[in-house]
Amino acid sequence: MTTVQLGLLLLVVAGLFFLLSRYKAHQSGLPSGKIVYSDNRVFQSLPRPLYDSALNLAGKPDYIVALKDGTFIPVEYKSHPAPDRPYDSHVLQLTAYCYLCEISYGRRPPHGLIRYADKTFQIDYTPQQESVLIEVITAMRSCECQSVFPNRSHHQTSRCRACGYRSLCDQRL
Ligand code: SF4
Repeated sequence: MTTVQLGLLLLVVAGLFFLLSRYKAHQSGLPSGKIVYSDNRVFQSLPRPLYDSALNLAGKPDYIVALKDGTFIPVEYKSHPAPDRPYDSHVLQLTAYCYLCEISYGRRPPHGLIRYADKTFQIDYTPQQESVLIEVITAMRSCECQSVFPNRSHHQTSRCRACGYRSLCDQRL
């Protein structure tokens, strides 16, 4: 094989990789931009969780996409079909990612995205949303300090199975 042929082959392979990565990004429903964080190995090696020492809050969004205008958008994936409106817990989770995104990248996201299997919701990251997040975390920290747990609000064993408070909680299923 000549040098020219080898060069052409490498170009074709690079083009195929580029198209494959674009296809994967398209399939994922991510906004168009550069993926700067992903909680899987498709786009990069596994990153560390985002962390804020003020709230002692850590989290790993599924993706963070940097848009051309310099804003960062966290994206959270849910594998099941979309409810009529996003669950409060999912909105709060995304709000936490918006908060951590601002701490980590120095720019406040205008919104985040919750992508269910069949629908994507845009959730504005408003000062009110941020206040709710801080209130909930403050209440959680207060419960932790007093070793008091609020009453369980569900009957889903799968939630308890994956819960970080399972070893302490006397209402686990
Ligand atoms: S283990 Fe306790 S705190 Fe965790 S989900 Fe179950 S009931 Fe809630």
